[in-house]
Order: sequence, then structure tokens, then C-alpha cells
Amino acid sequence: MTYQASGNRYDSMKYNRVGRSGLKLPAISLGLWHNFGGNDRFENGRAMVRRAFDLGITHFDLANNYGPPPGSAEEAFGLMLQKDMAPYRDEMIISTKAGYYMWPGPYGEWGSRKYVISSLDQSLKRMKLDYVDIFYSHRPDPETPLEETMSALDAVVRQGKALYVGISNYSAEQTAEAARILKELGTPCLIHQPSYSMFNRWIEDGLQDVLDEQGIGSIVFSPLAGGLLTNRYLNGIPTDSRAGGPSVFLNSEQITAGRLNKIQALNELAKERGQSLAQMALAWVLRGGRVTSALIGASRVEQIDDNVAALNNLTFTSEELRRIEDILAA
Ligand code: NDP
Repeated sequence: MTYQASGNRYDSMKYNRVGRSGLKLPAISLGLWHNFGGNDRFENGRAMVRRAFDLGITHFDLANNYGPPPGSAEEAFGLMLQKDMAPYRDEMIISTKAGYYMWPGPYGEWGSRKYVISSLDQSLKRMKLDYVDIFYSHRPDPETPLEETMSALDAVVRQGKALYVGISNYSAEQTAEAARILKELGTPCLIHQPSYSMFNRWIEDGLQDVLDEQGIGSIVFSPLAGGLLTNRYLNGIPTDSRAGGPSVFLNSEQITAGRLNKIQALNELAKERGQSLAQMALAWVLRGGRVTSALIGASRVEQIDDNVAALNNLTFTSEELRRIEDILAA
């Protein structure tokens, strides 16, 4: 059946300005890293993209290597765009990245101009797009001069293949330097995509200050710690969960007794706030307005509904914030 986007799609989502740019992103964005690959059910992914868009999620995040197999998430998303989303392209912010291993030989990963530009060309073909809205350097390359990687980002904007550029997984120092180079080239760094959650707070130690100073936005990945900060593992490890499946990024060994105690205590606090743990974890990364968007993953439509409803309660009392700190420090 032809997809018709909900007429109410802009009624309840919150949109935040990305740093000092003219662009706004939804407070919650959807990433296609897991559950959208060639080994996953296409119709499930399609239903999630439709539902997300109906809830005001205008931003969909991809990378060249998402799958498995690598590239297949972009292919699947390209098909969804063709089947459902084509009329809405101008209402969507689509991002992709290059940096991780994609093809054999010396030009298939990292940050050379050769790799970065070829990779974006391949991504555009897979998604059947003329341009992406945001293109990222997915990780810093210790061997390629930062000037070369940043000049490749500048080049794709000038070629009309990307509207904005960003960086991901760069340290505070690397970010300051990348921002300086990009400014000189005339293509400002729009956004940084770092990991951030209650269990992973490295960006508080310098990176957020650099982003604020430079007027760069932030979209934080794995705000639910891959599912740990949800009700998923409260009663064991379900076989249909990330930790119960083949993903190498979350496994049962990471769900230690100590961590489970924290998850349970956080879950109690979330209940007192009238929220699910996932909702509280998302509200927490968005607290204080320093993060532009929380970049979630999902394996089913209901999780997207649950997560977007986090926006109904984004505020914390100082007592609640103190209790969270105590739980995390225990
Ligand atoms: P999350 O921390 O949001 O974890 C998502 C997982 O949490 C889901 O797959 C699901 O697990 C579980 N979940 C989500 N919502 C709920 C809910 N309401 N209730 C119960 N469980 C829930 O993020 P991801 O780690 O998936 O990363 C999100 C995105 O960030 C990626 O898709 C990608 O776009 C980006 N990313 C970027 C990286 C980079 O280097 N730049 C690296 C990693 C991610 P289950 O599958 O078990 O149901």
C-alpha cells in the first residue's frame, strides 16, 4: 500500500538547532546500524522508518559499512526511499559516513581523499540519492594529515554531494583542529557524532566545551548503551535482543551483576518519574540542552514509540540528578 505520512507528524517532536548553523534536528533521530541490513527483515525496517517519520523523526543516520553485509543498510534504505519516502525527501535529513573498512586494499578505509570521496560516491549509488544532507568522517585517521581528510569533506560539499559535513569519534583536541581547518576551507563543521550515555560519559571531559566554543552541534550515538539502559535485560538475556544475538558490540559478558544492579536501580527511579528506563536515559542525555539529538537504534516499531514519548518529560529535579550520580558511582 502506498505510504502516506501522518498529517500530525510535526505536532509533538522537538527540533533543536545544530550548534550555530541554520539547521535543526529532531531531539530524537534514528540510526540504521543494526536491524536494517541484508540479513534483517526488510519489512520490519521499513515499518520502523515509516513510524519514525510519522512521529516527526526527520533524521536518519547511516554509514557506508552498516549491514551486515556492509553497504546493505544503505541499499535497504534506498529501497525504502524509493517505495515510501520519495515525496518527502526535502523533509528528511539523511547522513552517511566513511572511515571504517569497506573494501580491500589501501584505499578502502580511514581518511585519505581517495577513500573518502569514492566511498561517498558508492553510498549515493546504494541509496540512489544525488546528495546526502550530512557526510561524516567516521573516525580520525592517525596516518593521514587532518588537512587531507577535511579537504575531502570540503570537496564533497563543493561537488554538491553533501550539504553539510561532520566528524565522528574525534577527540576534543582533534575536533578543535578539524574545526579550524574546515573554517579556513569555508565549509564549517556542522556536527560531531560521539558516543554518550549514562554509562559512557567521555564527552563531558573536554569535547563538549570545544563544541560549545566552536558552535558545533552534537548528535550522540548509543544513548541507551546499545539496549543496556532499557528494560531489555532486567530479567535475563532475551534471544531476540542485541546481547542475545550475533552482534559483537554487546554480549552477555558485558551484563555483569554490578551493571545489572545499576540498571535495576535506574529502572526504579524511572518508574517514580512515570517513565520507562529508555525514556529516562534519553531525557538524561538531552538534559541541559548541550546535546542536539539523541541517536537511537531500534529493533521494532514499539521501541520507537516508547523512545519518542521520552519528550513528555525531559526535566530532572536536582535531587533526581543526584540520585542518578549516586547509582552510577555505586
Ligand atoms: P541505542 O543505545 O539506542 O541502542 C539501541 C538498541 O536498544 C535497540 O537495538 C534495542 O535493542 C534497544 N532499545 C531501543 N529502544 C528501546 C526501548 N524503548 N525499550 C527496550 N529496548 C530498546 O543505540 P545504537 O547502539 O543502536 O546506536 C544508534 C545509532 O547510532 C546507530 O544506528 C548508528 O546510526 C549510530 N552509531 C554511530 C557510531 C559511530 O561510530 N558514529 C557507532 C555506533 C552507533 P534490541 O535490538 O536488543 O531490541
